[in-house]
Amino acid sequence: MIDLDLLQLRGVSKHFGSFTAVDEVSLTVRAGARHAIIGPNGAGKSTLFGLISGTLTTSTGTITLDGRDVTRLPVHRRVGLGTAATFQHSSLFMRETVLENVLLAALLRTGAGAGTGLGGWRKVSARAEALARARTLLERVGLPDRHDLAAAALSHGERRQLEVAVALATEPRLLLMDEPAAGMSPAETQRLTELIAALPDEVTVLLVEHDLDMVFELADTVTVMHLGRHLTTGTPDQVRASAEVQQAYLGTTTEVSS
Ligand code: ADP
Ligand code: MG
Repeated sequence: MIDLDLLQLRGVSKHFGSFTAVDEVSLTVRAGARHAIIGPNGAGKSTLFGLISGTLTTSTGTITLDGRDVTRLPVHRRVGLGTAATFQHSSLFMRETVLENVLLAALLRTGAGAGTGLGGWRKVSARAEALARARTLLERVGLPDRHDLAAAALSHGERRQLEVAVALATEPRLLLMDEPAAGMSPAETQRLTELIAALPDEVTVLLVEHDLDMVFELADTVTVMHLGRHLTTGTPDQVRASAEVQQAYLGTTTEVSS
């Protein structure tokens, strides 16, 4: 049976002490979707991503990936099942080179990293394959001539591009991107938008983004969160027209101006 829903959240909440950052959110992400989550600062978007990727533990509710309950699984198990994330705050190895950052992720995927049981020529060929994939990915994200630079030497925009390459190196089925365009120049944002648009359908994209031009250019589905709650989900046109959405954004003029 083909499950058309890749990710499903049912009544998912996150409490920090007595504060509820995510409040009973139910949400379905179709396989192959370009699904954006928007909402004012503090709406709970990053927290929700943490619950989906596994960096935060869910207080109540269930999260299923391909029908499988992943609510209590640690991050690495979810990566193994095809979840990859780029974070709002960079998670690169700053002292390693650009190529090494991508290669490490690619090696983890092929199982050719240190300490695995793979031996002899299989290990060599897996490493060669990982290296080739890392190079291809750096080309794809627009960093073909940056291989040997330390990640710390990259510009802000280039780091975000590198993060995307690292995430793609794990061959994810679900790619979570938390404000990938934050701090990018318009040209870098455009390049990133094209990169995401060109991803194959096998990669389902769940995106949190403040740049609404980018959201409405990329997304086929938009969810609006407000005060930890799921406000509405619809097509970009439906969401743009929603009075509820206008109201949620009222007073946060910087975010819906574009
Ligand atoms: P968004 O990404 O939509 O801007 P966040 O998910 O980062 O929102 O935050 C939602 C709310 O949860 C905010 O009020 C924030 O202060 C609070 N919050 C986030 N992380 C923590 C934490 N670790 N401890 C306590 N409160 C938190
Ligand atoms: Mg956030």
